[in-house]
Amino acid sequence: MLRSGAFHVSLVQIPWMGRPVHLDASSRRASTERERARLDMALDGPISSYEAMNDRKRRVVIVGGGFGGLEAAKALDDVDVEILLVDRLNYHLFQPLLYQVAIAGLAPSEIASPIRGILADQKNVRVVLGEVTGVDLADKRIHIADPSDGNDLVESYDWLVLAVGARNGFFGHDEWEPWAPGLKSVEDALEIRRRVLLAFERAEKVDDPKERMKLLTFAVIGGGPTGVELSGAIAELASHVLAQDFRLADPRQTKVILVEAGPRILPSFPEDLAQSAVEQLAELGVEVRTHSRVVSIDEHGVELEGENADDVPDLGSGRERDRIHAATVLWGAGVRASALTECLGVPRDRQGRVIVGQDCSLPDHPEVFALGDMARFEQKGQVLPGVSPVAMQQGRYVAKVIEEEVESGGSPPRPPFQYFDKGSMATIGRSRAIAWARGVKMTGFLAWLAWLFIHVFYLIGFKNRLAVLFNWFWSYVAYKRGARLITSTGWRPTAAHGFACDVPPALPPRSEWQTVPAPPPSSQRAPQVRP
Ligand SMILES: Cc1cc2nc3c(=O)[nH]c(=O)nc-3n(C[C@H](O)[C@H](O)[C@H](O)COP(=O)(O)OP(=O)(O)OC[C@H]3O[C@@H](n4cnc5c(N)ncnc54)[C@H](O)[C@@H]3O)c2cc1C
Repeated sequence: MLRSGAFHVSLVQIPWMGRPVHLDASSRRASTERERARLDMALDGPISSYEAMNDRKRRVVIVGGGFGGLEAAKALDDVDVEILLVDRLNYHLFQPLLYQVAIAGLAPSEIASPIRGILADQKNVRVVLGEVTGVDLADKRIHIADPSDGNDLVESYDWLVLAVGARNGFFGHDEWEPWAPGLKSVEDALEIRRRVLLAFERAEKVDDPKERMKLLTFAVIGGGPTGVELSGAIAELASHVLAQDFRLADPRQTKVILVEAGPRILPSFPEDLAQSAVEQLAELGVEVRTHSRVVSIDEHGVELEGENADDVPDLGSGRERDRIHAATVLWGAGVRASALTECLGVPRDRQGRVIVGQDCSLPDHPEVFALGDMARFEQKGQVLPGVSPVAMQQGRYVAKVIEEEVESGGSPPRPPFQYFDKGSMATIGRSRAIAWARGVKMTGFLAWLAWLFIHVFYLIGFKNRLAVLFNWFWSYVAYKRGARLITSTGWRPTAAHGFACDVPPALPPRSEWQTVPAPPPSSQRAPQVRP
């Protein structure tokens, strides 16, 4: 591996970023009109840095600046490669604290950080804003669409690291999303904040007690960590924060119902901890309904069906239906791999995750890795969960594999990826949580303190950490929430979001690419002016 000092010198001498396409004269005499059009596009069109240099550095393209992609990029810091990191957003989002934005505890800027800023000091990375809409696995190229300016790009790679995460999944019922937004993006969180705060505002205006009760009823679907966090936080917001601010509506009458199809909430936690979570939720006034499968959602609320009615005494015999009249329904029940997985033409599981091998690579494509929430990785017969430590550890593993291949100049055997599970935690509200790490179990205030420090520690950006700590301290002592703004979000359902799976335009065979001599040292070069 090159030391970083030597690496910086070589970067100055052999800049690589944004080179135009170079093709030789014979390529220009392409026989058919179609080929000529392709060449023209290659020369003048969307292909930005498709350089054909024999002496160029090898290139790693990383798609996704979330937990996995960012970790892979950072771990390649000292490796002698060019890195191109593409994300459709210009920021890295700390999703574990999204629910805090949704319940007006934090502002979006406190849990998001510009990717360009995070990687500013890492000179071998170039960051590009755009959505990857196609991958040509055979020709090792990706297609990047930029809807903001229509300036699409095609980029080539030697290694491709796909870390595009997941989106909300509605088990084939995307039509539910307008009535029950999920929590996956900043837009989702702001829309949930808007709906929750608006429900209280409307309750203050209506005379009809039935209508007011509907407005003060919140149904949260899904008993995983997201549903538990959201329902606990809404109950707390209503009873402690909003209780002083309303005159006619009494936020203390708020009903929060957490709906779970399975026999218990938090199935990934030991049973006694899940039971503790139910009790802590009950202390906040949250009602937990298990064995209840959602069959429909509309503007009036949720319709439920008992899953195994025979085993559940209070559901009676047969499959009983029940309706929750709620003006606000929130979805925390499922996710689906990001849309790009549909464009790869490789085997996927029911959640749309790409099935990867023990080295996190795609079948028959050892140079393409998929990691984090978009990938299905099995360890000792168990599928790894969609949590950030999995994505981060896989990101570091993949970087190590690439580093070894760069250093050896070949393909040394790859040891299998091994996930090290440090434990899990879920917060239930102010000073309530459960935590479980390597046999040690914690509940209540201690677990909450552990949760708080771990989340602040992993949050990116010193300023963000201070702001979050300050905000939490303030809402802890004063029961106030600073971000209680109802803003118009322009939110749109995204679960059905997909794209046409663009295939990068065909280029002439590699043999026709011209070798470009290394540019002169920077002191002799005229500055490159970019529009
Ligand atoms: C509400 C919520 C709470 C959570 N709480 C926890 C928790 O407490 N602990 C925990 O460990 N995990 C938690 N998670 C899960 C954790 O956030 C994910 O496991 C983790 O983000 C996965 O990392 P990733 O790199 O695979 O994907 P992500 O972090 O989601 O990153 C994917 C990136 O890819 C980009 N992208 C997607 N498609 C494209 C495309 N076509 N072109 C370009 N860019 C694209 C996205 O913009 C995004 O930046 C939570 C998740 C949510 C939603």
